[in-house]
Amino acid sequence: MPRATVTLADLADPPDTATLEALDESATARAIASMRSKLMRRRKALIGHTSDEPELDRVIASLRRLQNPQLTAYALENGLVLSEPFNGIARACPPASSKAARFAADAMVGKRAPVALVRALAAFGDAALSLARAAGVRIRIVAAGIRFSQASASVARCVPGIDEWEAPPSGLFVVEDRTVLLRDRALHMTAAHEFAHALDAALAARPRSYFSFESEELRYYFSTATGYVNEYAASGLDEYFAESVRAYVEVNDPACAWLPLTRQDLYLRDPRMFGLVDRLFASGFSSRERRRAKRR
Ligand SMILES: [Zn+2]
Repeated sequence: MPRATVTLADLADPPDTATLEALDESATARAIASMRSKLMRRRKALIGHTSDEPELDRVIASLRRLQNPQLTAYALENGLVLSEPFNGIARACPPASSKAARFAADAMVGKRAPVALVRALAAFGDAALSLARAAGVRIRIVAAGIRFSQASASVARCVPGIDEWEAPPSGLFVVEDRTVLLRDRALHMTAAHEFAHALDAALAARPRSYFSFESEELRYYFSTATGYVNEYAASGLDEYFAESVRAYVEVNDPACAWLPLTRQDLYLRDPRMFGLVDRLFASGFSSRERRRAKRR
């Protein structure tokens, strides 16, 4: 029997594992071993070729993903795919259609938005996109060579040295003008993270504030959590909200040094926060649900 071709799930277009047949542990272990030797060979061939650094980063990130205990082999028509459990836990509302996401993204960008950004925003669903638009959220793609402090007067005023940081961010959310600033290499995962900050601001009752600062329920979960969806989520209330929401919508990047996040990760590591985020999405971000989470 010919050996089945093994691929690693494409994070830019992850499979819906709820619709696939999961294979058993030994088939998964064999698929992981085969993928590991393929990636090790690729890594060896790339080391020392500086022009291929982005490709090397992707190979190293892929090798890291193979260590995730939740990685499972699923049968495809013509082979196997190794994947994190994308859609392993159902979401409370469907993603937006590509047409609706395109319409919302173009409106927020003010011109035709790049495809990667449209895809990242689609994952949030119709209600989140409407809420952000109603709150006046804008998205600006800042060309390389233009400093964030040039692109935004608020950035120049509040974080004037941001462009001189050792590792300047590839995206940020400016709460003063409800604007997401993104480098054009950061239109997927970073876009989703920053858009989650925009959503957090859109959900707030006060201007220039965040729901995550105002919600007693969320503050309580943050201060008493025994686990966070990832390390970054533990760094502050706003990052707690943003990374938990990003896990919920399952938007990840192939070259990222962090492991991809899924709803299942959020559910397993921080079930109370999963419940809060799931309720917000299920209610279509209704004001009643927001008030409920504010009081606890
Ligand atoms: Zn952030």
